[in-house]
Amino acid sequence: MLNLIEKAMNTHNLSKEELISLLKDDNYFEDLLFAANQVRKKYVGDEIHLRGLIEFSNFCKNNCLYCGLRRDNKKLIRYRMDEETIVSLASHAKQIGLKTVVLQSGEDLHFNTERMCLIIRAIKDLGLALTLSIGEKTKEEYAAYREAGADRYLIRIETTDKKLYAENDPDMSWEERAQCIRNLKSLGYELGSGCLVGLPNQTLSSLAEDILFFKKTDCDMIGIGPFIPHPDTPLKNAKGKELNLSLKVMALTRLLLPDINIPATTAMETLAPDGQAKALNGGANVIMPNITLTNYRKFYQLYPGKTTTGYTPDDSLQKVIDKIHALGRTVGLGYGQSPHWQKEQK
Ligand code: SAM
Ligand code: SF4
Repeated sequence: MLNLIEKAMNTHNLSKEELISLLKDDNYFEDLLFAANQVRKKYVGDEIHLRGLIEFSNFCKNNCLYCGLRRDNKKLIRYRMDEETIVSLASHAKQIGLKTVVLQSGEDLHFNTERMCLIIRAIKDLGLALTLSIGEKTKEEYAAYREAGADRYLIRIETTDKKLYAENDPDMSWEERAQCIRNLKSLGYELGSGCLVGLPNQTLSSLAEDILFFKKTDCDMIGIGPFIPHPDTPLKNAKGKELNLSLKVMALTRLLLPDINIPATTAMETLAPDGQAKALNGGANVIMPNITLTNYRKFYQLYPGKTTTGYTPDDSLQKVIDKIHALGRTVGLGYGQSPHWQKEQK
């Protein structure tokens, strides 16, 4: 195993079989995270980039089995922010020193292309970098957002196992999601994808395929999220909560895609008080402090137990900064583009 880890550190290539054996063997967990941390340091440095997350609507037309925002969850109180509130939150993000905001929502048809482009332009006028995470759209819509100034887009493939995808994402098509990812890349977005770890019936073989997919699709950012069962979804009795396996998938992703951005995800922190610290010491270099207004947060319930629920935007940011300093790392002061994407622009 140590030879395989060394091979990954030096060549940034592993076969599917090699990935599976590393995912399977828990004896080398610490070695794997240590190696990923070394590669992170060499390729993207010690800075941790912050992205202010604005969860602007929890309406969703989709019905993903794992997600608390699914349309059939009638228990959830729905909200959507108006355009002014969204832009004022972005403006506040700038005031408290953030350089990037991420607009995230369910797939909410209220926010048509025209509305989204108005919001994008207003936020870009503030001089911020802007990431969108609003789901599947046509290539024309993605092009319009890009034209309006959007810099980055996050859309997880969720899983590369097409059967598992079909089971968990009814009425959706894996091929269409993969096409969205290709379209975003071709439009010049800094592209973020990722997967869920710990879905029922997910295999180590499919997780290995996920990592190879990230490399093949030339992603600039990868977010790995442990699946956490939500009580008001069909997967309420599933096991999920695979923090260590998620950290291994994340570490292997860093070894194979050395110069991308990798967030320490909120779902990791939800599973353990040191979940994000472990991630930052195992290959991650980004954190997304939640800057959604406190009164909306409890309704953006992808999964239960989100640690950020009771906080204000300023509290969330301060907690993240404290965490970074406690690890002896520094807060990135620039826009924090991934070196991978920057190289492609030359
Ligand atoms: N609706 C957009 C989409 O699906 O791409 C963007 C927002 S969606 C809420 C963001 C991510 O939340 C999804 O890509 C999914 O991986 C994650 N997510 C949903 N339910 C989850 C759960 N129960 N546990 C962990 N992550 C979850
Ligand atoms: Fe909607 Fe995204 Fe949740 Fe699926 S994961 S139900 S698309 S918010």
